[in-house]
Amino acid sequence: MLIAGNWKMFNGPREAGVFCRALRDADLGDVDVAVCPPYVSLAEAVQALAGTEIGVFAQNCHWEPEGAFTGEVSAPMLLELGVYGTIVGHSERRQFFGETDEGVARRVESALDQGLQVIACVGETEAEREAGETETVLRRQLSVLNADDNLVVAYEPVWAIGTGKTATPEIAQEAHALVKSLLDVPVLYGGSVRPENAAELVAQPDVDGALVGGASLDLESFAAICRAASQ
Ligand code: PEP
Repeated sequence: MLIAGNWKMFNGPREAGVFCRALRDADLGDVDVAVCPPYVSLAEAVQALAGTEIGVFAQNCHWEPEGAFTGEVSAPMLLELGVYGTIVGHSERRQFFGETDEGVARRVESALDQGLQVIACVGETEAEREAGETETVLRRQLSVLNADDNLVVAYEPVWAIGTGKTATPEIAQEAHALVKSLLDVPVLYGGSVRPENAAELVAQPDVDGALVGGASLDLESFAAICRAASQ
């Protein structure tokens, strides 16, 4: 059971240090825990969490080890910092920064090849769900990925991200079962996970953890989600 906190574009180095030092002492129950700070805060988080089991993940990673790719960061650079893994293909990257299934596939494959753990995100938009296209979208997004021991998929219905609308446990289970039938890897649920709904979601047979956005920015909420998931 993995609970990962995606901080998005929140928590600069100073705040990341304060948060991670407090996280060291928090009661997180018995689950694997990871935080995903913005690039500039990774070093601080790695340092503050040194000697703990809490993993530090980036929020994205380029496929080349180096080169003329302004604004991008590579796997060797992340590994040099002590970063353990990376999110790839978050819906905000797809929606606002034009990332495609093919680009996501290149990022995932090369991050895995270079030794990072990967959380690859998939999920349908509200319009796609309403049009009955959820399965088609998930099949398309997953068709470019290959199972790997270091790969985890996060099913994140776009309509549930940052909206306060959570998929029902039944909706999540149905989607997770489909994902697992297509790719044999652990599958996290993401989309407005809160301390109040975490236990019910992770109790579903094919839900192997959660990718938490907004609620991961508050230490008490994040720790409560970890504890709820460990029961
Ligand atoms: C996310 O950013 O991956 C996410 C699931 O966000 P939130 O929990 O805020 O919906």
